[in-house]
Amino acid sequence: MSILIQIAYLISSILFIVGIKKLGKTKSAREGNIYSAVGMLLAIAATLVTLDILSFVEIFVCILIGGSIGLYVSQKVEMTKIPEMVALFNGFGGLASFAVALSDYFLKTQSVDTYPDSVNAVSIIVSVLIGGVTFTGSMIAYLKLDGKISGSPITFKGQHPLNLILLIGFVVAGVLTYMNPGDPIFMIALIVISLLLGVLTVMPIGGADMPVVISLLNSYSGMAACATGFILNNNVLIVAGSLVGASGIILTQIMCKAMNRSLTNVLLGGFGQTVAGPAADGPQIIVKEIGVEETAMLFESASSVLVVPGYGMAVAQAQHVIRELMEQCEKRNIDFKFAIHPVAGRMPGHMNVLLAEANISYDKLIEMESINDEFPNTDLVLVVGANDVVNPAARTNPESPIYGMPILNADKAKTVIVCKRSMGKGYAGIENELFGYPNCLMLFGDAKQTITKVVGELKEM
Ligand code: NAP
Repeated sequence: MSILIQIAYLISSILFIVGIKKLGKTKSAREGNIYSAVGMLLAIAATLVTLDILSFVEIFVCILIGGSIGLYVSQKVEMTKIPEMVALFNGFGGLASFAVALSDYFLKTQSVDTYPDSVNAVSIIVSVLIGGVTFTGSMIAYLKLDGKISGSPITFKGQHPLNLILLIGFVVAGVLTYMNPGDPIFMIALIVISLLLGVLTVMPIGGADMPVVISLLNSYSGMAACATGFILNNNVLIVAGSLVGASGIILTQIMCKAMNRSLTNVLLGGFGQTVAGPAADGPQIIVKEIGVEETAMLFESASSVLVVPGYGMAVAQAQHVIRELMEQCEKRNIDFKFAIHPVAGRMPGHMNVLLAEANISYDKLIEMESINDEFPNTDLVLVVGANDVVNPAARTNPESPIYGMPILNADKAKTVIVCKRSMGKGYAGIENELFGYPNCLMLFGDAKQTITKVVGELKEM
């Protein structure tokens, strides 16, 4: 039996790895999700068989309740609310590891004969720390993202020294727990400190930086699960936890790199405050406006078009009407592609998901490194609800908070049309000098409504 269980765990682990690999490409992402879900089902089934459970009723009732909530939430959630949902998932993942570690500790310390061995004791302490921090940290991230508490960084004097003192306190209480497993007072101290640390480390981070923090917390939830795998002696939990831990940290790194931020800079907080960028104090940007009709005429006369989608496209849900715009252009033999910035929108792959939802073929979506050289030879660039990812200050203004961030070279195209509602700023809270460039025209209005009108004009031409 035991060998069969280990084979089932091995198959689950392979399914997780193949699933993650497939998630790396939009085209195979759905398949990747199914592979991972099947892997998880197999791991749960194999684990249930190994346990000495007399009645499965409670377990099935819990699976039914949890599964129904998950199904309902995943059907209901809006695309722009996915980061909040992931924050909750991470938080509950951390809480599960935290709860398992504590129950194992309190069970084993009931009698001296069953006291945890050293590997077990260290795993419990690590799991309580990471699980607790992940749980409360994710809850704060969720509340900030959802606007239930202020998204601004909440800071106070002595915050970082206090975190350091708490961390040292945790290490001391951890050593004391290890040395006196039977005394619950030290474990209680560990619980309180880990929960507090989660709150205190996420509070000073601005709401807009939350997606990076969520990716990091995702990694933590994997590490907590991995530590719990050691507590339970469960190989598949160790493998799955390590996979989540490693992929979360890689994603965090990719996001930081694309935003030109260091992880320390994100974690020390403060960036989410509205930054009065230097351009805001500089000369006022004088823009040229364009109307719907003239926009349609520019499309009519272009032979190549690049669309730069951004967060505003997601807010306006303009992806479907952009597909119609693409169809109108392709009817006229206009070369039509999308230039995708790695951090456009508010979550990794945000634009890819939205455009795929509108049935836009994957080969039309070109990543930044591959498309940037094509801008100078492009007749018309349409920037839809994007701002920071096309801000030339990232190249030209060393004082700018986004200086050094790789951007899409939209400003180098022959003509750029920017569709947004106003002169409102983007995530970084700074002016965009592109809007005042001689080759740039502003098409003001909600992206969906405005592009719908442009498509209407093109249909009549
Ligand atoms: P952005 O810089 O945040 O700008 C979005 C623009 O969309 C705003 O200036 C806004 O201007 C416009 N907008 C909002 N609603 C609109 C609507 N209904 N119709 C038309 N326009 C609308 O977006 P971005 O260029 O996509 O850049 C993403 C930013 O988020 C980057 O700074 C990135 O570092 C950051 N970020 C990304 C991630 C990620 O994983 N993708 C994670 C964390 C942070 P108006 O108000 O004038 O309309």
